[in-house]
Amino acid sequence: MATNVLRTSTKTISLIQNAKKLLTRTFTTKLTEKQLEIQQSVRDFTNEHLKPKAAKLDQEGKYPFKEIKKLADLGFMGACVDTEYGGLGYDYLSLALAVEELSRGCASTGMLLSIHNFLYANLVNEKGTPEQKELFLRNFTKGCIGCFALSEPEAGSDAANIKTTATRDGDYWILNGKKSWVTSAIEGSAVAVFATFDPELKHKGIVCFLVPLDFEGVFRGKKEQIMGVRAATSCNVTLEEVRVPNSYVVGQPGEGFKIAMEQLDQARIGIAAHAVGISQAALDTAINYAKHRIAFGKSLTRLPSVQDRLTEMSVMVETSRLLTYRAATEVKTKNSAMAKYVAGRNAAAVADHCVQIMGGKGLSTSYDAERHYRDARGTQIYGGVSDVQKRLVGHFLLKENGAL
Ligand SMILES: Cc1cc2nc3c(=O)[nH]c(=O)nc-3n(C[C@H](O)[C@H](O)[C@H](O)COP(=O)(O)OP(=O)(O)OC[C@H]3O[C@@H](n4cnc5c(N)ncnc54)[C@H](O)[C@@H]3O)c2cc1C
Repeated sequence: MATNVLRTSTKTISLIQNAKKLLTRTFTTKLTEKQLEIQQSVRDFTNEHLKPKAAKLDQEGKYPFKEIKKLADLGFMGACVDTEYGGLGYDYLSLALAVEELSRGCASTGMLLSIHNFLYANLVNEKGTPEQKELFLRNFTKGCIGCFALSEPEAGSDAANIKTTATRDGDYWILNGKKSWVTSAIEGSAVAVFATFDPELKHKGIVCFLVPLDFEGVFRGKKEQIMGVRAATSCNVTLEEVRVPNSYVVGQPGEGFKIAMEQLDQARIGIAAHAVGISQAALDTAINYAKHRIAFGKSLTRLPSVQDRLTEMSVMVETSRLLTYRAATEVKTKNSAMAKYVAGRNAAAVADHCVQIMGGKGLSTSYDAERHYRDARGTQIYGGVSDVQKRLVGHFLLKENGAL
């Protein structure tokens, strides 16, 4: 009898385990009513406020202040932040849908909203103390901009090797070093800074600090001039003897690397969504052009080679979208890395097809194709280079199969 019970319960456990495995493998592409509403409202916002201005913002390299302010008024600067701190309390997929739609109209605005939310606001919301949330979150859902400073001139992908130092001094820490490529630092009010209290400890010596950007000793460099997302800004941030209270440390000293990596898992969902938006824009641009362009007595869409290109583009956009939505729903390193790897690569390829379909006009700055082409390229670099994403996918694939 006892053996039977044992057998039944072992069988039941194994059934439950299999069901759980199946559940985690099952991804539904159906958006909820609420998510569809969010998608539609951001689509309308993009068509009205971003699409008509994107080319000008890009050409002038102007930060989209007004557009970010409008998004803040709608609550999107705290999309996933708890409502008690002024956020909308959305899930990651809803934020990804918003980033995709914004990036379809203006890649720079989509990228800025994505970085502010996934790398800053969500970090403070999920890991900050109540005091930190009062100081570093409440106003950041209303229009203040937050940043994330991990990269350094000598450490990008190799983030465990950062050299910015954090030295304890009673109730304070003294920060010294140089951060690079800090998005929105010129316009921002605060930044999550990663520094080491002992470089020998590598990732185990890293601390995450919240630092107001107007603190004494914080110096912001000039805007980096880059090929795409030109309305967004990034710059160096130099820290010279910056005194930061111990109460501004997020988590425990030594946990900074883990915090950064968890945030990057989220950020990659955002950059993948941003890449999907750019890809969709390039596909729309190509179809609109090909429908109206006459060559050899018929529209370009009647040429098999153009049809093939459009089909290829559509398959790539959909593949990226599905992987991105899955990554936003089942948040784990492998899913985020796979989505970013595929969506970034596809965005570059889709934008390349778009340029080709438009012929000479594809190269002209009077049309959108060349902007999509330039905007697409960075999605394989910021948020973690494609080469590293591919390696992460490989690592987890082998680990899951007991092959490491
Ligand atoms: C527009 C923009 C905005 C950014 N915003 C921010 C921000 O807000 N905050 C922030 O902290 N950083 C930001 N970054 C920095 C960005 O995250 C880094 O540029 C990126 O992580 C790559 O680092 P790196 O440039 O030092 O390149 P490296 O790490 O030097 O890599 C260069 C190349 O070497 C190869 N490589 C390196 N390591 C590996 C590896 N392990 N496996 C395989 N190949 C490898 C790859 O081909 C890679 O492309 C931004 C960058 C840009 C361009």
